[in-house]
Amino acid sequence: MNTPSAEFQLRFLDYLQRIFDEGEFTATYKFALLMALADLSVERGDDSDTELTLTSQEIARKFIGYYDRQARPFPATGGGDEPIVLHQNTGKQARIVNIVREAQAEYVFKVKRAGMRLRSDNRLVADVARTVRDQPLWRLQVLGRDADGFFYPNIGTGHEITLRPGVAYCFRRFHGFVHGLAQNRWVAFIRERRQNLDVLGETVDLGAFLFGSDRADLSAYRTMLVDIQSKCCFYCNEDLKTSEVDHFIPWSRYGTDLGHNFVLACRRCNHDKRDMLADVRHLEHWVRRNEDHGAAMNGYFEEQQLVHDLPGSVMITKWSYQQAENVGAHVWRRGSDTAGLRGSWRRFI
Ligand SMILES: [Zn+2]
Repeated sequence: MNTPSAEFQLRFLDYLQRIFDEGEFTATYKFALLMALADLSVERGDDSDTELTLTSQEIARKFIGYYDRQARPFPATGGGDEPIVLHQNTGKQARIVNIVREAQAEYVFKVKRAGMRLRSDNRLVADVARTVRDQPLWRLQVLGRDADGFFYPNIGTGHEITLRPGVAYCFRRFHGFVHGLAQNRWVAFIRERRQNLDVLGETVDLGAFLFGSDRADLSAYRTMLVDIQSKCCFYCNEDLKTSEVDHFIPWSRYGTDLGHNFVLACRRCNHDKRDMLADVRHLEHWVRRNEDHGAAMNGYFEEQQLVHDLPGSVMITKWSYQQAENVGAHVWRRGSDTAGLRGSWRRFI
């Protein structure tokens, strides 16, 4: 399998740096677009140097996921009184924030239950996709007079882009780096807006609000997981007295709340595993569980309107183990026992 040369990979990083240094940022959309390109390269791409075509709808679904968290009112910690929705544009509020807020309100009203996750229905996706096309998609790569586009041909119009050969590979390889840079700049952009000054204190952890895992939401998965795991810990199989919903692929490695990524663990295992990947034995268990309970899980996710995408979760999991193998990472087995990742992980996924 051909992979891009080291020189190409450096050019990719140089170009990324140029976007941050030379690009114009009037809204947070370009940060979201870079994160979406990295995520979709993981979920849809592979480790060869081939091209990857992405539609504005696919990108829009990613945007909805990011802004769903961010469109919630921010609890005031500075001098202000009322929680406000953070401003995400240099002018009036970013359109996508308004669209997502309207959809959230309508959605909660429709199902008459607060705290449900936003469902990305077709009308909402089409609406967000239009803004993606009008705003960041064809502007991301305009750097002064240079508008050729290193990531994808910058043809300036249309519903889809095609990442050039090697670009999806680099987005996969540097996924954490791209997300880290984009999120830092996103946080700084929001801090700089005068409309946000009143609610943002000096010390507030804005990054956690904008990008952290939403622990409170995870309770929605508990009932189903208690049922399919027969009240036992996913990792050690002990009876669950206290249980915690755990991201099988840790949030710090890939921030996804897709339904199949959740398992129920005892407090001890959850604490011991921390931000590590689980050993091959646990990976095999995860794959089997999704095979054995796939239909029931899908039914539950649909009924509760929880975001899920099993093929996407499998791609993310494969990518995570591949990354771990590439860097010689240790994986968690049990208690404080860790070991190098064995190549046999490929047999199971
Ligand atoms: Zn356990």
